[in-house]
Amino acid sequence: MLAYGFDMGIVIAIDGPAGAGKSTIARRLAEQLGFTYIDTGAMYRAVALWALRQKLEPTDMHRMEQLAQAASIELATETNRIILNGEDVSEAIRQPEISEAASRVAAIPAVRRSMVAKQREIAENANVVMEGRDIGSVVFPDARVKIFLDADPGERVRRRAGQAGEPDTAAVHRQLAERDHRDRTRAEAPLAQAPDAIYVDSTNLSIDDVLEALLKLVRARMTNGKVYH
Ligand code: C5P
Repeated sequence: MLAYGFDMGIVIAIDGPAGAGKSTIARRLAEQLGFTYIDTGAMYRAVALWALRQKLEPTDMHRMEQLAQAASIELATETNRIILNGEDVSEAIRQPEISEAASRVAAIPAVRRSMVAKQREIAENANVVMEGRDIGSVVFPDARVKIFLDADPGERVRRRAGQAGEPDTAAVHRQLAERDHRDRTRAEAPLAQAPDAIYVDSTNLSIDDVLEALLKLVRARMTNGKVYH
């Protein structure tokens, strides 16, 4: 592991659509740098899970706002567990219906405001690799390094279906396409590449290739020639 001699508050933003490899890459990059890995999608998923359990309509903006504010969401970074109101929901939030509900609740401006405030708070006391949809564009427009990680839709479907052990790739394709469309076209903080983000197409690259490319970028942007081992 490399340890850089820097102050707290360095942000590396990794945005992109579902299935582009963000989580795997962001987690490994954080490990390599000794930074904290933050999965912001898990936060929207936790809010969506609670809303579904409360039988709240994701379109009920007022109650969704209250719920998002009241939610206690902990990202236990050492263990990679997601804790919602004291309960470990790491597995529960990965169900396909939660992916869909998360993208619906994430379109509500007040829900986003709550999550963005939590994300900024986390980064005050840590160096982070934060992944999501709007990290470089909205949450941290001054992030030290911004990556937009993408891959062909067909490849993203293959990866997602593989991860989920789901043989019905047509269904996965439909779900991903619908979620991407919603994420890209919502009015508030849509999935978009920040103008100063570096575009990385991972379609034909292995995880190690992408990681190596990102480490090079990060080193070039951060060290001023100084690296502390
Ligand atoms: O990254 P993941 O697929 O787990 O995210 C679930 C959903 O949460 C996304 O489809 C998106 O609608 C929402 N999200 C978001 N902004 C983020 C992270 C996730 O809107 N920064």
